[in-house]
Amino acid sequence: MRKPVIAGNWKMYKLLGEAVDTALALKPLVANANHCEVLIAPVFVHLKTIADRLEGSNIKVAAQNCSTETKHSAHTGEVGADMIKDVGCSYVIIGHSERRQFYGETDESVNKKTKAALQFSLTTIVCVGEMLAERESGNAETVVKTQLVGALDGLTVSDMERIIIAYEPVWAIGTGQTATPGQAQEMHGFIRQTLAEMQGEEAAEKTRILYGGSVKAENIKDLMKEADIDGALVGGASLEAESFAKIVNYR
Ligand code: PEP
Repeated sequence: MRKPVIAGNWKMYKLLGEAVDTALALKPLVANANHCEVLIAPVFVHLKTIADRLEGSNIKVAAQNCSTETKHSAHTGEVGADMIKDVGCSYVIIGHSERRQFYGETDESVNKKTKAALQFSLTTIVCVGEMLAERESGNAETVVKTQLVGALDGLTVSDMERIIIAYEPVWAIGTGQTATPGQAQEMHGFIRQTLAEMQGEEAAEKTRILYGGSVKAENIKDLMKEADIDGALVGGASLEAESFAKIVNYR
């Protein structure tokens, strides 16, 4: 019932030529992947070119962030959700842990950005996840619940149709230390239960919950066997077309 999503987060990597080469190399490798939605998220300045070059393919393009502001206004350096939509993107990643850690993203700004993205019909991947110390002190669920409640505050059940949650334990991002399928499933189950409390069983059952944190070709299959894991948000292993395609074609 929930179509899996495999999303590649290219972070601040690649010059334009490299990004185009990778996107074009990926196209034939995932052309038959009808079992899932395939997304890549290049940097802002590459979005239009990549979206144009992928038009008509099954690879969709996501931005890695958007502004809290929805009106064209004096906000130097910001990029509005309508601008992202206008250049051919249909998805946006909000609240990635690197933005929370290094750029002052808070649950409040994540909530505002999520609402801005929804206003312009972008499907929004909302990232949540605990730090290592929070897991070790037994607070992982509390942290994730607080992030979820903050990010989704004021959203309606119909808004939830455009929300995807990405659970990314910070200790697993870029470290090579993946959560075990059991650890991931436990948190995904908790997230779905929290979504049910917030938005009702039906909306919770429909919401895709992606796992992120050192996903690679070698571990995707086992992660995808878990009942509440509906796809992956992939960083490092999405930068090469071949390795990302292996993850997309996990079946
Ligand atoms: C990410 O950036 O969202 C991520 C999960 O990175 P990696 O796959 O490299 O751990």
